[in-house]
Amino acid sequence: MSTPTHISVDGIADLVTGDAVEERYRTDRSGYIAPGRPEAVVRAHTVEDVQAAVRYAAGAGLAVVPRGAGTGLAGGAAAGAGSLVIDLTGLNRIADISPGEDLAVVEAGVITADLDAAAAEVGLRYAPDPASAAISTIGGNIATNAGGLRCVKYGVTGDSVLGLSVVLADGTLLHTGRRTAKGVAGLDLTSLFTGSEGTLGVIVGATVRLQPIPLRTVTIAARFDDVETAAAATSRVLAERVRPAIMELLDEASTRRAQDHLGLDGAASGAFVVAQTDGFGADTEAQIVADTFRTFTSRVDVGSDPETVERLLAVRRAALPALEALGRPLIEDIAVPRPRIADAARAVTTIADSHRVPIFLFGHAGDGNLHPIIVVPDDPTADARAEQAAADIFALALDLGGTITGEHGIGVLKRRWLAKETGEESLSVQRAIRAALDPQLLFNPGKVF
Ligand SMILES: Cc1cc2nc3c(=O)[nH]c(=O)nc-3n(C[C@H](O)[C@H](O)[C@H](O)COP(=O)(O)OP(=O)(O)OC[C@H]3O[C@@H](n4cnc5c(N)ncnc54)[C@H](O)[C@@H]3O)c2cc1C
Repeated sequence: MSTPTHISVDGIADLVTGDAVEERYRTDRSGYIAPGRPEAVVRAHTVEDVQAAVRYAAGAGLAVVPRGAGTGLAGGAAAGAGSLVIDLTGLNRIADISPGEDLAVVEAGVITADLDAAAAEVGLRYAPDPASAAISTIGGNIATNAGGLRCVKYGVTGDSVLGLSVVLADGTLLHTGRRTAKGVAGLDLTSLFTGSEGTLGVIVGATVRLQPIPLRTVTIAARFDDVETAAAATSRVLAERVRPAIMELLDEASTRRAQDHLGLDGAASGAFVVAQTDGFGADTEAQIVADTFRTFTSRVDVGSDPETVERLLAVRRAALPALEALGRPLIEDIAVPRPRIADAARAVTTIADSHRVPIFLFGHAGDGNLHPIIVVPDDPTADARAEQAAADIFALALDLGGTITGEHGIGVLKRRWLAKETGEESLSVQRAIRAALDPQLLFNPGKVF
């Protein structure tokens, strides 16, 4: 792509160019760093800012990299030479919360936890809760179709999106979807843009579904001798036909690291599972979950005191930051059919041994979504061993009938694996859709496919 010598976008005051572009725009939380430096960053405060930036980039031959909070784990928001970043964090108004309709209308840069807090003021909540809810944006969550802890019962981000406002490659503003609880008019363009990882347009606003805050929530925490037993216990719970709102799993080493990270001296050892049941049947379901866990371990606690509950969930949320602090982590994100979680856990241990790399394992067991975290050792052959281990993990997921990414997306890092999962026919249909919407390949070129 050619690089313009001077960048000035009509009507946009909040524009940074050249050496003033901060290093952070070259990366995200995956650790991937794009080659070169973006030519400019437009910090959008209005939809018109986004439209002007897209039109400018199209005319100047620059790629557009839409960016929320940059917490992504696939390199999707990382921008390099020849690109213009549209930073959406300044587009952060909550326009409407409608208790009668159980929905909210928000701008894309709203922090997810802020929406949830605003909804709570009227007894509602925004159900999708990625572990990054306090630091990521709704737009980024929609662009990656983010998962979260409560997905097992309430679905992923896409299940809560009713409609979108999207700036297209020619700068026009498209509105998709509806406000009503039901509606089937035309093709489902809302779903098309959800999970598109910034390849089809810039999401500037969304209408999202809210849920009543459950009247009662019960938490069940259990310690198991090893991760395989813990994984088998979670599969058994799901086979009992209860649907916990949360069911999270951490192996022994991740639990220890997360507890240390939080300064929880003397906390119990072993693989850790924390589950929550909610709603009118919360106590009955919690009893079934606890009884099922007790067939695998004697160390099971049931409680609903908010402070204890928060401490238990904090261990889960601290898992990734604790492992990031250890060095260079490769963060993987496979999902397997739920009855195969224990098989996956066992195979990941074998992969770690055979490539001599430490692999920590935690994840959303309720969805079969596991995060094997390879912490790359500091020796000359480590990168190659870690990459081979990652390749084996992807192959394992596909062999078990699963997926190479349950929630983080393809971005830059899993591109070469996408066709292995989708097949070439699916990929060529996806490319045709992208070309129809963005013939110039303006948005996030080199990402996803
Ligand atoms: C500690 C931690 C915990 C995490 N836990 C989870 C988890 O539980 N579940 C989960 O799914 N993910 C998790 N993640 C990953 C990450 O937070 C999610 O992918 C999140 O959805 C990214 O949001 P963001 O605003 O940071 O987007 P960014 O990282 O800025 O962007 C992500 C992708 O979306 C595109 N994009 C961003 N905004 C827009 C927009 N408005 N329009 C079009 N495209 C856009 C970007 O180009 C990029 O491809 C975690 C990350 C961290 C660091």
